[in-house]
Amino acid sequence: MHEVRINNTKLILKIGDITEEEVDAIVNAANPTLLGGGGVDGAIHAKGGPKILEECKKIGGCKPGEAVITTGGNLKAKYVIHTVGPIWHGGSNGEEEILKRAYINSLKIAKHNKVKTISFPSISTGAYGYPVELASKVALSSIIDFIKGDDFFEEVRMVLFKEKDYHVYLRALESLSK
Ligand code: ADP
Repeated sequence: MHEVRINNTKLILKIGDITEEEVDAIVNAANPTLLGGGGVDGAIHAKGGPKILEECKKIGGCKPGEAVITTGGNLKAKYVIHTVGPIWHGGSNGEEEILKRAYINSLKIAKHNKVKTISFPSISTGAYGYPVELASKVALSSIIDFIKGDDFFEEVRMVLFKEKDYHVYLRALESLSK
């Protein structure tokens, strides 16, 4: 685990399974239908139970870069924030901007719901194919910019499923701190 403090917020990088997180909200890397998928989305619905999917069906969908919120069902987290990252098409199709908006809009909806502690997965770097070296810089710089401008959160965590990704995020954080 690695921790840095930005104003009153702890920014934490850790290896783990996001469905086990004891935080106010976890973020789901969903797809636009919100009807479930593989990867982290599948894991969240499997552990959270059918209530989350029911709420997602009522919401009806989510565009790339936007975020919606449901309860956490059977998860330890009170809420799940579902956001949709960009599909990687080589990098010149607005991918960076959409990824940035996915993080920022997740933080905005979290704050709106008084979420003080939040855990993110590495959005878009699985099935959506965004290179993790690039995605890690976008993820962390978006989060850090938000925290610097708004001293609201107690803890923002990046929960990396793969040890290799954890080290990539760690290097990205070091390069951003220089
Ligand atoms: P996307 O479609 O946005 O790429 P994926 O779920 O395919 O979403 O992958 C996003 C990231 O989530 C990947 O880095 C993957 O390793 C990670 N991941 C998969 N399962 C979990 C989990 N249970 N907890 C945290 N991260 C996970």
